[in-house]
Amino acid sequence: MKKYQSLQSIQTAIQSQQATLEEVVTHYLGNINQYNNKLHVFVEVYREEALEKAKALDKKYQTAPKSVGKLFGLVISIKDVLSHKDHIVSASSKMLEKFTAVYNATAVERLLAEDAIIIGRTNCDEFAMGSTNETSYFGVTRNAADPDRAPGGSSGGAAVSVQANMCLAALGSDTGGSVRQPAAWCGVIGLKPTYGRISRHGLLAYASSFDQIGIFTNSLEDAAQILEVTAGHDEFDATVASIPVPNYSNSLDIKKGKAKIAYFESTLNGEGLDQDIHASTSKVIERLKAAGHEVEAVPFEYLDYLVPTYYVLTTAEASSNLSRYDGVRYGHRAENVNNLKELYQKSRTEGFGKEVKKRIMLGTFVLSVGYYDAYYTKAQQVRRLLSERTKAIFEQYDFILMPTTPNVAPKIGESEKDPIATYLADIYTVFANLIGAPAISLPIQNVNNESLPIGIQFIGKDFEEAQLLSFSKEIEQLL
Ligand code: GLN
Repeated sequence: MKKYQSLQSIQTAIQSQQATLEEVVTHYLGNINQYNNKLHVFVEVYREEALEKAKALDKKYQTAPKSVGKLFGLVISIKDVLSHKDHIVSASSKMLEKFTAVYNATAVERLLAEDAIIIGRTNCDEFAMGSTNETSYFGVTRNAADPDRAPGGSSGGAAVSVQANMCLAALGSDTGGSVRQPAAWCGVIGLKPTYGRISRHGLLAYASSFDQIGIFTNSLEDAAQILEVTAGHDEFDATVASIPVPNYSNSLDIKKGKAKIAYFESTLNGEGLDQDIHASTSKVIERLKAAGHEVEAVPFEYLDYLVPTYYVLTTAEASSNLSRYDGVRYGHRAENVNNLKELYQKSRTEGFGKEVKKRIMLGTFVLSVGYYDAYYTKAQQVRRLLSERTKAIFEQYDFILMPTTPNVAPKIGESEKDPIATYLADIYTVFANLIGAPAISLPIQNVNNESLPIGIQFIGKDFEEAQLLSFSKEIEQLL
């Protein structure tokens, strides 16, 4: 099966008249037709719209090749938490099953302005809460590497849309790993930029001080280009950094000197780490050392606090964010109710799934008067300590390396049996969200077992995505 590896290869094919954009879109729609029933990646496919747009862009290109945008040729999917004007955005929840976005998320707006084609919206865990895509109201997405296994979450559909060649790239969101973890389990690249690099305007909120839009691709070049287009100042999101957006694509091939890389001993030698991941990550470290990079273990005493801190803070923020779904202003509204309180109760009872309810209740609990200091304040203090410790590490090192996940993709149904273990498995990804730093998951070879994908993660300094991407390029060449 033909697989375009990068936007460049699509643009070259169009320039040399080997393909039209319409044919490229048809190619992806063909793959969707073939696999979507089985893998359940898209909640909605914009067939007609994508084809119409491709035809119009082909015409525009033929008339004046220079008039098309930078992302001409990019066929991309968006996670079902990103607002896309006049299209449904449901957070894969019954609560918003019929909710139509009235404006574009800034990231979506910028993709469209550069002539990208959005091919559909992808399935995800309900309100992006989950690690396996099993909490979606629409049912689970399957991993194309083994359809009995989970794709990861919460951006599971996004990851598989790229893995199964249903589009070239995908936008997802990453609050605690939702881009990097499914990328690792599906064998694609997953980039979570620094908190505040890409505007969150139009991204349905889960935990606002953690949420960040992220990118799935097959190539680092595409990740760089999509970041370049979507990042940067936005008057609709006050938390977006106004730091100028570098030309990430140009910095990819700049040869840097030798890097200094830190890792935390226990992330590699902890009991819970899968054997294949341990072996495969160790091999990468050997290669890095052989290539002259310094890779050193550094002490890090806070590892056990990452997951609890993450879940206290994100559930607290979620309980506040999701209070807007009251059956009055947005989304599902219960019928046959006698008073306002009953309307709230019944609408939420019917509209939210089990995992979302669990988190709202947990978040309400940690914010309650009697427990606020014991949980919420404490977790904020730990978050501060993590930032300070990491800052000190980054004074001496360029990157922090760790496995993206402690485990490979589990069988569907497994994670429900032990929800605590599922939360704990977020240990390596939540770190970057707690400190806000940019992080990338790169697919690496599974040294023992060819079939199940594995990812390695590099965390960089705030707003140094250019360095992170160009170092990733070096690793790609090294491996
Ligand atoms: N698995 C994590 C959670 O359930 C991360 C989710 C995310 O990044 N959206 O909270």
